Amino acid sequence: MGCLSERYLPELKKNIPEVDEYFGSNNIPQILKKIGGEFKHNLIGERQISTPNNFAYLKISEGCDNPCSFCAIPIMRGLHKSKPIEQVMNEVINLSKKNIKELIVIAQDTTYYGLDLYGKRELASLLKSLSVVDGIEWIRLMYAFPSKFPIEVLDVISDSEKICKYIDIPVQHASDNVLKSMRRGITRRALTELLHKIRNKIPEIALRTTLIVGYPNETEKDFEELINFVKEIEFDRLGIFTYSQEENTFAYELGDPIPQKIKEERQQIIMDLQREISFKRNISRIGKTKKVLIEKEDGQNLIGRTEWDAPEIDNEIIFTKNKNLKIGDFTKVKITDALEYDLFGESVV
Ligand code: SF4
Repeated sequence: MGCLSERYLPELKKNIPEVDEYFGSNNIPQILKKIGGEFKHNLIGERQISTPNNFAYLKISEGCDNPCSFCAIPIMRGLHKSKPIEQVMNEVINLSKKNIKELIVIAQDTTYYGLDLYGKRELASLLKSLSVVDGIEWIRLMYAFPSKFPIEVLDVISDSEKICKYIDIPVQHASDNVLKSMRRGITRRALTELLHKIRNKIPEIALRTTLIVGYPNETEKDFEELINFVKEIEFDRLGIFTYSQEENTFAYELGDPIPQKIKEERQQIIMDLQREISFKRNISRIGKTKKVLIEKEDGQNLIGRTEWDAPEIDNEIIFTKNKNLKIGDFTKVKITDALEYDLFGESVV
């Protein structure tokens, strides 16, 4: 079940006939029927928590209406379908009863939320509603598509103590030549303006992004432009992928002319650059006292995250164990030292 079977059903059936049944990404009622169960609408919002340490992913919609040339997700997941706000709220109230303290708001494109269902982008009001749920202490916004970013979201993030000063905003590239071919609906200038606007409105914010190098029409000049953009913006967190050609996408017909070796060299150059930037930004946070969610123990230390860090992909903060604290608690930690991808601190409770 999932993307693979949604996309390659005939091929899978032919090549692996031993499998009893294949299901696409959204065939929940069908799989339940097959195993003798029944799809019950009144159970929508009930969940088994599969993530550790008091955080949960909150998927607010499925599918995507954007035309990014390199991406096969709309083929597999279909067009954007927002979950009704009542359904999302019901799910969050249930999560809070299960002691979930941090919500990680996800979708293929979170900024599109509501447009299909309510005729306008409703991410700002959704975030506002989430932030009044008792027990939820952190709300983290991921996968915010930059084109047509609903700017009112910034006021909500800035005004709410519960919404993390953190946005994951995948820009993918910065050269207009590549952005145009990628069909991202945005120029370098507009991207830069948006990112400056975010930092001006919320100076404390940690910005995370994702990039692709080795896109078919990426020239040396385009890559230079990307380097300059990364230097100029100084993202707090950055993930970078090498381009991979996907069948049935717009970019497929451009071929895959850039050798893997060049792609990996470009990836490494940006990673090396980002390591320096990350170190510089981490150092600038020494002396600050931040709320931390404790996630692990290691010998005499506890390990957690600040609001600037998402689980599994971002920094951790390491501080000395205190017998009053346990995994899953929030505490206050003063940042005393920093490395490229880790912070060190002292508990101040
Ligand atoms: S890259 Fe993201 S925004 Fe673009 S089509 Fe794919 S899922 Fe949608």
